[in-house]
Amino acid sequence: MKGIDQRVEAFELQLRKAGLRMTQQRRLILRVLAEADDHPDAKGIFTRAFVHDPTLSLSTVYRTMKLLETQGAIERHAFEDGVSRYEHADQQHHDHLIDVETGQVVEFSSPEIEALQAKIAAELGYEIVRHKLELYGRKTKPARRKPGKKDA
Ligand SMILES: [Zn+2]
Repeated sequence: MKGIDQRVEAFELQLRKAGLRMTQQRRLILRVLAEADDHPDAKGIFTRAFVHDPTLSLSTVYRTMKLLETQGAIERHAFEDGVSRYEHADQQHHDHLIDVETGQVVEFSSPEIEALQAKIAAELGYEIVRHKLELYGRKTKPARRKPGKKDA
């Protein structure tokens, strides 16, 4: 995983490639995003950035997120609540488990699942280009494995 400054630089580069001028507000959004280690939605990013610049508008955040997504710098998730959530695209692949009661998002990865998916795809004559796996669950007991990063 990259450091925060490297992330901001990478985001800036990607926006410049899209032909965008780097404004103070865009730079702020990039920093907030680079610092996030959860799955915030646009409003969450706006709230975090607004503290530093009360002239910021939510639509500026939406536009910036859209551009970063188009550039492949961030990944958008549309979990069942219908809200778009974002995370950096520079992380190792992982899947998500969403707590249906609290909305908490728990990350996990499983070599067994990856291998099984590849096997099934191969049997169908395919190689996997990408996949998204979302589990929806209700917590009934303490975890027996260490989750990846989690958030609410
Ligand atoms: Zn994630």
